[in-house]
Amino acid sequence: MAIQYKSVEEVQAMRLAGIIVGETLELIRQSIAVGVTTKKLDAIAEAHIRARGAIPSFMGYHGFPATICASINDEIVHGIPGDRVIGDGDVVSIDCGAIFAGWHGDAAFTVGVGRVDSKDQAMIDTCQASLWAGIAAARIGGHVSDIGHAVERSIKSHGRYGILQEYTGHGIGTEMHQEPHVANYGKPGRGPELVPGLALAVEPMITRGSHRNRTLSDEWTVVSLDHSRAAHFEETFTLMPDGRPYVLTSLDGGRSALAQLGVEAYAD
Ligand code: MG
Ligand code: MG
Repeated sequence: MAIQYKSVEEVQAMRLAGIIVGETLELIRQSIAVGVTTKKLDAIAEAHIRARGAIPSFMGYHGFPATICASINDEIVHGIPGDRVIGDGDVVSIDCGAIFAGWHGDAAFTVGVGRVDSKDQAMIDTCQASLWAGIAAARIGGHVSDIGHAVERSIKSHGRYGILQEYTGHGIGTEMHQEPHVANYGKPGRGPELVPGLALAVEPMITRGSHRNRTLSDEWTVVSLDHSRAAHFEETFTLMPDGRPYVLTSLDGGRSALAQLGVEAYAD
């Protein structure tokens, strides 16, 4: 499938899907607590997405049975919500996607619940920082691999972490997963040129140990082979014609996080 380039009007339409995803993740962030099941978080997410007139994009995607992915501790991504109860000190990753008027948004965050191990918190902070470093590295005329290069450099500047190789970010638009792949490592200057209207989901996935992983017998949940804990952050963004990044799934468009890196985000 060819890369899909969006007009400014189409980007604004995608922004509506992105806001719904951002709102949903914010609701879940407020609802995550010791004693809450991941099934409960899933119900909160589905209710909000549908109340906003959108469709949960994960549900039915290659048979996935829920609105969110909920991945705990050594589960890296694609965990299926269920009866598991969130415990004190758990590291919980939530991934969510929605479709509004045919356009997709896709975003994720990780949070430590209750009394969080300081090394888990450092991993979570490292993963989040690398996501924003990746987006901040995107320039018109640059290349897609500039993002992954910046993600990898940021992670490595914070310590030794496993960076997943088999799972990457992706183009996004009228489908959730489009060309190109956005790896979380590698040399800069490779891949398609970064131009306005190329919308990308950037999503670093790291562990406190090895990057090696396997998929559980549920055929979805990806866990670290060494049982090390993991983090995952994701935002959907594009560059605008004036060169500024516009983070479609971030409620403030990415302004506060990017300002900390000296990058001005597109104003809504
Ligand atoms: Mg996602
Ligand atoms: Mg994604």
